[in-house]
Amino acid sequence: MANTNNTVTTEPQNTTQENTEQLRFAKRFIRDYQQIAIYKDVNPLDWEDWRWQLKNRIRTKEELAQIIKLSPEEEKGLDRARGKLSMAITPYWASIIDPEDADGPLRRQAVPVSAESAVSPHEMTDPCAEDRDSPAPFLVHRYPDRVLLLATDHCAMYCRHCTRRRLVGESEKKEDNSLSRFDAAIDYIKSNRKVRDVLISGGDPLILEDERLEDLISKIRSISHVEFLRLGTRVPVTLPQRVTENLVNMLKKYAPIWISIHFNHPKEITRRSKVACDMLTDGGIPLGSQTVLLKGINDRPYIMKKLMHELLQIRVRPYYIYQCDPVRGTQHFRTPVATGINIVEKLRGHTSGYAVPVYVIDGPGGGGKIPVGPNYVLSQAKGKYVLRNYRGKIYTYLE
Ligand SMILES: *Cc1c(COP(=O)(O)O)cnc(C)c1O
Repeated sequence: MANTNNTVTTEPQNTTQENTEQLRFAKRFIRDYQQIAIYKDVNPLDWEDWRWQLKNRIRTKEELAQIIKLSPEEEKGLDRARGKLSMAITPYWASIIDPEDADGPLRRQAVPVSAESAVSPHEMTDPCAEDRDSPAPFLVHRYPDRVLLLATDHCAMYCRHCTRRRLVGESEKKEDNSLSRFDAAIDYIKSNRKVRDVLISGGDPLILEDERLEDLISKIRSISHVEFLRLGTRVPVTLPQRVTENLVNMLKKYAPIWISIHFNHPKEITRRSKVACDMLTDGGIPLGSQTVLLKGINDRPYIMKKLMHELLQIRVRPYYIYQCDPVRGTQHFRTPVATGINIVEKLRGHTSGYAVPVYVIDGPGGGGKIPVGPNYVLSQAKGKYVLRNYRGKIYTYLE
Protein backbone atom coordinates (compact mmCIF):
# COMPACT_ATOMS: atom_id res chain seq x y z
CA MET A 1 0.00 0.00 0.00
CA ALA A 2 1.34 3.38 -0.91
CA ASN A 3 2.17 5.58 2.03
CA THR A 4 1.65 9.21 1.27
CA ASN A 5 2.22 10.40 4.81
CA ASN A 6 5.98 10.45 4.77
CA THR A 7 6.49 13.00 2.04
CA VAL A 8 7.86 16.23 3.44
CA THR A 9 5.84 19.19 2.33
CA THR A 10 7.90 22.23 1.59
CA GLU A 11 5.05 24.50 0.56
CA PRO A 12 1.88 25.26 2.47
CA GLN A 13 -0.82 22.97 1.08
CA ASN A 14 -3.54 25.54 0.79
CA THR A 15 -3.90 29.18 1.51
CA THR A 16 -6.85 29.37 3.84
CA GLN A 17 -6.99 32.23 6.28
CA GLU A 18 -5.63 30.05 9.03
CA ASN A 19 -2.66 28.90 7.01
CA THR A 20 -1.75 32.42 6.03
CA GLU A 21 -1.84 33.40 9.65
CA GLN A 22 0.26 30.40 10.63
CA LEU A 23 2.76 31.23 7.94
CA ARG A 24 2.99 34.83 9.06
CA PHE A 25 3.57 33.66 12.63
CA ALA A 26 6.16 31.08 11.56
CA LYS A 27 8.05 33.61 9.46
CA ARG A 28 8.69 35.69 12.55
CA PHE A 29 11.22 33.10 13.66
CA ILE A 30 13.08 32.39 10.41
CA ARG A 31 15.98 34.61 11.27
CA ASP A 32 16.54 32.67 14.48
CA TYR A 33 17.57 29.52 12.60
CA GLN A 34 18.49 30.30 9.03
CA GLN A 35 22.03 31.27 9.96
CA ILE A 36 22.64 27.56 10.58
CA ALA A 37 23.72 25.96 7.33
CA ILE A 38 21.77 22.70 7.67
CA TYR A 39 18.53 24.54 8.54
CA LYS A 40 18.91 27.32 6.01
CA ASP A 41 16.21 26.01 3.69
CA VAL A 42 13.76 24.65 6.23
CA ASN A 43 10.23 25.78 5.59
CA PRO A 44 9.10 27.99 8.48
CA LEU A 45 5.91 25.94 8.82
CA ASP A 46 8.01 22.81 9.26
CA TRP A 47 10.21 24.56 11.81
CA GLU A 48 7.11 25.52 13.76
CA ASP A 49 5.73 21.97 13.62
CA TRP A 50 6.65 20.21 16.86
CA ARG A 51 6.52 16.82 15.19
CA TRP A 52 9.03 18.00 12.61
CA GLN A 53 11.21 19.23 15.46
CA LEU A 54 11.02 15.83 17.17
CA LYS A 55 11.63 13.88 14.00
CA ASN A 56 14.65 15.98 13.14
CA ARG A 57 16.36 15.90 16.51
CA ILE A 58 20.12 15.59 16.53
CA ARG A 59 20.88 12.04 17.67
CA THR A 60 24.39 11.32 16.37
CA LYS A 61 27.89 12.68 16.61
CA GLU A 62 27.97 13.15 12.84
CA GLU A 63 24.83 15.29 12.85
CA LEU A 64 26.04 17.37 15.76
CA ALA A 65 29.40 17.93 14.12
CA GLN A 66 27.60 19.73 11.29
CA ILE A 67 26.48 22.38 13.74
CA ILE A 68 29.23 22.75 16.30
CA LYS A 69 32.91 21.96 16.36
CA LEU A 70 33.09 19.15 18.88
CA SER A 71 35.62 19.29 21.69
CA PRO A 72 37.64 16.15 22.53
CA GLU A 73 35.55 15.76 25.72
CA GLU A 74 32.35 15.91 23.70
CA GLU A 75 33.69 13.43 21.12
CA LYS A 76 34.50 10.95 23.87
CA GLY A 77 31.20 11.59 25.63
CA LEU A 78 29.28 10.98 22.43
CA ASP A 79 31.08 7.72 21.77
CA ARG A 80 30.10 6.50 25.21
CA ALA A 81 26.59 7.89 25.60
CA ARG A 82 24.78 4.98 24.06
CA GLY A 83 21.61 3.35 25.28
CA LYS A 84 20.07 5.12 28.24
CA LEU A 85 19.87 8.88 28.12
CA SER A 86 21.26 8.96 24.62
CA MET A 87 21.62 12.40 23.09
CA ALA A 88 18.59 14.12 21.61
CA ILE A 89 18.68 17.82 20.75
CA THR A 90 15.81 19.58 19.04
CA PRO A 91 16.70 21.76 16.05
CA TYR A 92 15.24 24.64 18.10
CA TRP A 93 17.69 24.04 20.95
CA ALA A 94 20.51 23.60 18.41
CA SER A 95 19.61 27.03 17.04
CA ILE A 96 20.15 28.71 20.41
CA ILE A 97 23.42 26.94 21.29
CA ASP A 98 26.57 29.01 20.87
CA PRO A 99 28.56 26.94 18.32
CA GLU A 100 31.83 28.59 19.35
CA ASP A 101 31.67 28.00 23.08
CA ALA A 102 32.16 24.43 24.33
CA ASP A 103 31.43 25.65 27.87
CA GLY A 104 28.21 27.42 26.88
CA PRO A 105 25.31 26.86 29.28
CA LEU A 106 22.90 25.48 26.67
CA ARG A 107 25.50 23.25 25.08
CA ARG A 108 26.62 21.68 28.34
CA GLN A 109 23.06 20.76 29.27
CA ALA A 110 22.56 18.90 26.00
CA VAL A 111 25.85 17.45 24.76
CA PRO A 112 27.36 14.44 26.58
CA VAL A 113 30.97 14.77 27.70
CA SER A 114 33.51 12.22 28.87
CA ALA A 115 33.06 13.30 32.51
CA GLU A 116 29.66 11.54 32.50
CA SER A 117 31.35 8.17 32.68
CA ALA A 118 33.07 9.06 35.96
CA VAL A 119 31.08 7.84 38.95
CA SER A 120 31.92 9.22 42.37
CA PRO A 121 31.49 7.08 45.51
CA HIS A 122 28.33 8.71 46.87
CA GLU A 123 26.50 8.85 43.56
CA MET A 124 23.50 6.60 43.05
CA THR A 125 21.29 5.26 40.28
CA ASP A 126 18.11 6.36 42.02
CA PRO A 127 19.28 9.02 44.49
CA CYS A 128 15.81 10.03 45.68
CA ALA A 129 14.80 6.37 46.15
CA GLU A 130 11.69 6.87 44.02
CA ASP A 131 11.51 3.22 43.07
CA ARG A 132 11.20 2.27 46.73
CA ASP A 133 8.22 4.61 47.26
CA SER A 134 6.30 3.27 44.31
CA PRO A 135 2.98 1.65 45.27
CA ALA A 136 2.00 1.08 41.62
CA PRO A 137 3.81 1.18 38.28
CA PHE A 138 4.60 4.77 37.17
CA LEU A 139 3.57 6.20 40.54
CA VAL A 140 5.72 7.64 43.36
CA HIS A 141 3.99 8.32 46.65
CA ARG A 142 6.30 10.07 49.09
CA TYR A 143 4.30 12.83 50.78
CA PRO A 144 0.97 12.12 52.48
CA ASP A 145 -1.24 14.28 50.26
CA ARG A 146 0.39 14.19 46.85
CA VAL A 147 1.74 11.77 44.26
CA LEU A 148 4.03 11.89 41.27
CA LEU A 149 2.90 10.11 38.10
CA LEU A 150 5.56 9.28 35.50
CA ALA A 151 3.50 9.63 32.33
CA THR A 152 6.23 8.74 29.84
CA ASP A 153 9.94 7.99 29.73
CA HIS A 154 10.57 10.25 26.74
CA CYS A 155 11.59 13.91 26.55
CA ALA A 156 12.07 16.38 23.72
CA MET A 157 15.69 16.76 24.82
CA TYR A 158 17.72 14.68 27.25
CA CYS A 159 19.32 16.92 29.85
CA ARG A 160 22.75 15.68 30.82
CA HIS A 161 22.01 16.35 34.49
CA CYS A 162 18.79 14.30 34.49
CA THR A 163 17.97 12.87 37.90
CA ARG A 164 15.76 10.18 36.35
CA ARG A 165 18.33 8.97 33.84
CA ARG A 166 17.74 5.40 35.08
CA LEU A 167 14.29 5.55 33.47
CA VAL A 168 14.43 8.14 30.79
CA GLY A 169 15.63 7.87 27.20
CA GLU A 170 14.71 6.33 23.89
CA SER A 171 14.99 2.58 24.12
CA GLU A 172 14.90 0.33 21.09
CA LYS A 173 12.07 -1.73 22.49
CA LYS A 174 8.51 -0.86 21.55
CA GLU A 175 6.95 1.36 24.16
CA ASP A 176 3.70 0.34 25.83
CA ASN A 177 1.47 3.24 24.80
CA SER A 178 -1.78 1.90 26.17
CA LEU A 179 -3.65 4.05 28.65
CA SER A 180 -4.34 0.85 30.59
CA ARG A 181 -0.74 0.80 31.79
CA PHE A 182 -1.79 3.50 34.28
CA ASP A 183 -4.77 1.52 35.59
CA ALA A 184 -3.07 0.44 38.80
CA ALA A 185 -1.74 3.96 39.45
CA ILE A 186 -5.18 5.50 38.89
CA ASP A 187 -6.87 2.87 41.05
CA TYR A 188 -4.37 3.65 43.79
CA ILE A 189 -5.16 7.38 43.63
CA LYS A 190 -8.89 6.61 43.58
CA SER A 191 -8.70 4.44 46.66
CA ASN A 192 -6.45 6.84 48.55
CA ARG A 193 -8.61 9.75 49.61
CA LYS A 194 -5.70 11.62 51.14
CA VAL A 195 -4.21 12.27 47.72
CA ARG A 196 -5.40 15.77 46.84
CA ASP A 197 -2.48 16.72 44.54
CA VAL A 198 -1.26 14.84 41.47
CA LEU A 199 1.91 15.85 39.66
CA ILE A 200 2.13 14.46 36.15
CA SER A 201 5.74 14.34 35.08
CA GLY A 202 8.06 11.81 33.47
CA GLY A 203 9.96 12.04 31.15
CA ASP A 204 7.99 14.91 29.74
CA PRO A 205 4.20 14.56 29.65
CA LEU A 206 3.91 17.21 26.94
CA ILE A 207 5.72 14.87 24.58
CA LEU A 208 2.48 12.88 24.42
CA GLU A 209 -0.07 13.63 21.74
CA ASP A 210 -2.91 15.87 22.92
CA GLU A 211 -5.42 12.98 22.86
CA ARG A 212 -3.29 10.68 25.00
CA LEU A 213 -2.52 13.41 27.47
CA GLU A 214 -6.19 14.34 27.62
CA ASP A 215 -7.18 10.71 28.29
CA LEU A 216 -4.84 10.67 31.26
CA ILE A 217 -5.74 14.11 32.61
CA SER A 218 -9.48 13.50 32.32
CA LYS A 219 -9.16 10.21 34.23
CA ILE A 220 -7.34 11.94 37.05
CA ARG A 221 -9.65 14.96 36.99
CA SER A 222 -12.65 12.71 37.43
CA ILE A 223 -11.37 11.59 40.85
CA SER A 224 -13.29 13.84 43.20
CA HIS A 225 -10.67 14.16 45.95
CA VAL A 226 -7.93 15.29 43.52
CA GLU A 227 -8.14 19.06 43.80
CA PHE A 228 -4.71 20.12 42.56
CA LEU A 229 -3.31 18.95 39.23
CA ARG A 230 -0.01 19.99 37.79
CA LEU A 231 2.33 19.05 34.97
CA GLY A 232 6.11 19.05 35.15
CA THR A 233 7.61 19.80 31.74
CA ARG A 234 10.60 21.29 29.99
CA VAL A 235 8.88 21.55 26.63
CA PRO A 236 8.36 25.35 26.73
CA VAL A 237 12.17 25.58 26.98
CA THR A 238 13.39 22.80 24.69
CA LEU A 239 10.50 22.53 22.20
CA PRO A 240 8.29 25.62 22.58
CA GLN A 241 6.54 24.77 19.29
CA ARG A 242 4.74 22.00 21.20
CA VAL A 243 2.64 24.59 23.01
CA THR A 244 -0.11 24.90 20.43
CA GLU A 245 -3.53 26.48 20.60
CA ASN A 246 -5.04 22.99 20.62
CA LEU A 247 -2.97 21.98 23.60
CA VAL A 248 -3.85 25.08 25.56
CA ASN A 249 -7.56 24.69 24.77
CA MET A 250 -7.45 21.08 25.91
CA LEU A 251 -5.68 21.95 29.19
CA LYS A 252 -8.14 24.78 29.80
CA LYS A 253 -10.98 22.29 29.98
CA TYR A 254 -9.45 20.71 33.07
CA ALA A 255 -8.66 23.91 34.93
CA PRO A 256 -7.23 24.52 37.40
CA ILE A 257 -3.99 23.03 36.08
CA TRP A 258 -0.61 24.42 37.09
CA ILE A 259 2.62 23.86 35.19
CA SER A 260 6.15 23.65 36.52
CA ILE A 261 8.76 24.40 33.87
CA HIS A 262 12.48 23.72 34.14
CA PHE A 263 14.43 26.88 33.25
CA ASN A 264 18.15 26.95 34.11
CA HIS A 265 19.71 29.92 32.34
CA PRO A 266 18.67 33.37 31.05
CA LYS A 267 19.65 32.32 27.50
CA GLU A 268 16.75 29.86 27.57
CA ILE A 269 14.35 32.76 27.65
CA THR A 270 14.03 33.49 23.95
CA ARG A 271 11.42 35.22 21.85
CA ARG A 272 10.07 31.77 21.06
CA SER A 273 9.96 30.34 24.58
CA LYS A 274 8.28 33.55 25.71
CA VAL A 275 5.50 32.97 23.19
CA ALA A 276 4.96 29.45 24.58
CA CYS A 277 4.79 30.74 28.15
CA ASP A 278 2.46 33.58 27.19
CA MET A 279 0.08 31.16 25.50
CA LEU A 280 -0.07 29.00 28.63
CA THR A 281 -0.49 31.93 30.99
CA ASP A 282 -3.11 33.54 28.76
CA GLY A 283 -4.89 30.17 28.86
CA GLY A 284 -5.21 30.55 32.61
CA ILE A 285 -2.40 28.18 33.55
CA PRO A 286 -0.12 29.49 36.32
CA LEU A 287 3.55 28.79 35.60
CA GLY A 288 6.39 28.09 38.01
CA SER A 289 10.03 27.31 37.36
CA GLN A 290 12.22 24.66 38.91
CA THR A 291 15.88 25.38 38.35
CA VAL A 292 18.71 22.94 38.90
CA LEU A 293 21.88 24.48 40.31
CA LEU A 294 24.62 23.54 37.84
CA LYS A 295 28.33 24.22 38.12
CA GLY A 296 29.62 26.61 35.50
CA ILE A 297 26.09 27.15 34.15
CA ASN A 298 24.08 29.06 36.73
CA ASP A 299 26.17 28.93 39.92
CA ARG A 300 26.98 32.65 39.97
CA PRO A 301 24.55 34.85 41.93
CA TYR A 302 24.29 37.47 39.15
CA ILE A 303 23.28 34.82 36.60
CA MET A 304 20.62 33.41 38.91
CA LYS A 305 19.33 36.88 39.66
CA LYS A 306 19.10 37.67 35.97
CA LEU A 307 17.28 34.39 35.36
CA MET A 308 14.77 35.06 38.13
CA HIS A 309 14.13 38.61 36.94
CA GLU A 310 13.63 37.47 33.36
CA LEU A 311 11.28 34.71 34.50
CA LEU A 312 9.09 37.27 36.23
CA GLN A 313 9.07 39.27 33.00
CA ILE A 314 7.52 36.31 31.19
CA ARG A 315 5.14 35.64 34.10
CA VAL A 316 6.87 32.52 35.38
CA ARG A 317 7.19 32.39 39.16
CA PRO A 318 10.52 30.96 40.40
CA TYR A 319 9.52 27.98 42.58
CA TYR A 320 12.56 25.87 43.49
CA ILE A 321 16.30 25.82 43.03
CA TYR A 322 17.41 22.19 43.35
CA GLN A 323 20.75 21.06 44.53
CA CYS A 324 21.88 18.77 41.68
CA ASP A 325 21.00 15.25 42.89
CA PRO A 326 23.87 12.79 43.36
CA VAL A 327 22.89 10.71 40.36
CA ARG A 328 25.62 8.66 38.68
CA GLY A 329 27.75 10.58 36.21
CA THR A 330 26.80 14.12 37.22
CA GLN A 331 29.68 15.08 39.49
CA HIS A 332 30.92 17.67 36.98
CA PHE A 333 27.62 19.54 37.44
CA ARG A 334 27.49 19.55 41.23
CA THR A 335 28.42 22.57 43.35
CA PRO A 336 28.98 22.74 47.09
CA VAL A 337 25.78 23.36 49.08
CA ALA A 338 27.28 26.67 50.22
CA THR A 339 27.03 27.90 46.63
CA GLY A 340 23.26 27.51 46.69
CA ILE A 341 22.90 29.09 50.11
CA ASN A 342 24.98 32.05 48.97
CA ILE A 343 22.79 32.51 45.92
CA VAL A 344 19.67 32.73 48.09
CA GLU A 345 21.50 35.11 50.44
CA LYS A 346 22.17 37.37 47.44
CA LEU A 347 18.52 37.28 46.37
CA ARG A 348 16.41 37.46 49.53
CA GLY A 349 15.82 41.08 50.49
CA HIS A 350 17.97 42.33 47.64
CA THR A 351 15.24 41.82 45.07
CA SER A 352 11.50 41.16 44.73
CA GLY A 353 10.31 38.35 46.95
CA TYR A 354 8.61 36.85 43.91
CA ALA A 355 12.06 36.42 42.38
CA VAL A 356 13.32 34.26 45.25
CA PRO A 357 12.77 30.52 44.86
CA VAL A 358 13.31 28.04 47.70
CA TYR A 359 16.61 26.20 47.55
CA VAL A 360 16.08 22.51 48.35
CA ILE A 361 18.03 19.30 48.63
CA ASP A 362 16.06 16.17 47.82
CA GLY A 363 17.04 14.03 50.80
CA PRO A 364 19.15 11.16 49.41
CA GLY A 365 17.41 7.87 50.11
CA GLY A 366 13.90 9.32 49.94
CA GLY A 367 13.67 12.24 52.37
CA GLY A 368 11.77 14.51 50.05
CA LYS A 369 12.64 18.14 49.38
CA ILE A 370 14.39 19.74 52.32
CA PRO A 371 14.77 23.53 52.29
CA VAL A 372 18.24 24.85 52.98
CA GLY A 373 19.08 28.50 53.07
CA PRO A 374 20.70 31.33 54.93
CA ASN A 375 20.00 31.41 58.63
CA TYR A 376 18.25 34.57 59.80
CA VAL A 377 17.52 33.47 63.39
CA LEU A 378 20.66 34.22 65.42
CA SER A 379 19.32 33.13 68.79
CA GLN A 380 16.08 32.16 70.38
CA ALA A 381 15.28 32.31 74.07
CA LYS A 382 12.04 32.54 76.06
CA GLY A 383 9.87 35.11 74.34
CA LYS A 384 12.77 36.57 72.42
CA TYR A 385 14.09 36.07 68.92
CA VAL A 386 17.32 37.68 67.78
CA LEU A 387 17.24 38.04 64.02
CA ARG A 388 19.40 39.47 61.29
CA ASN A 389 18.08 41.07 58.15
CA TYR A 390 19.42 40.79 54.59
CA ARG A 391 22.00 43.47 55.32
CA GLY A 392 23.27 41.75 58.46
CA LYS A 393 21.69 44.26 60.83
CA ILE A 394 20.43 42.76 64.07
CA TYR A 395 16.88 43.04 65.36
CA THR A 396 15.15 41.69 68.43
CA TYR A 397 11.57 40.50 68.26
CA LEU A 398 9.72 40.08 71.54
CA GLU A 399 6.82 37.70 71.66
C1 LIG B 1 8.83 17.10 44.18
C2 LIG B 1 7.90 15.99 44.45
C3 LIG B 1 6.56 16.23 44.73
C4 LIG B 1 5.98 17.63 44.77
O1 LIG B 1 6.55 18.36 45.80
P1 LIG B 1 6.15 19.89 46.05
O2 LIG B 1 7.08 20.36 47.12
O3 LIG B 1 4.72 19.88 46.47
O4 LIG B 1 6.33 20.61 44.77
C5 LIG B 1 5.74 15.16 44.98
N1 LIG B 1 6.22 13.90 45.00
C6 LIG B 1 7.52 13.63 44.75
C7 LIG B 1 8.00 12.23 44.80
C8 LIG B 1 8.40 14.67 44.46
O5 LIG B 1 9.69 14.39 44.21
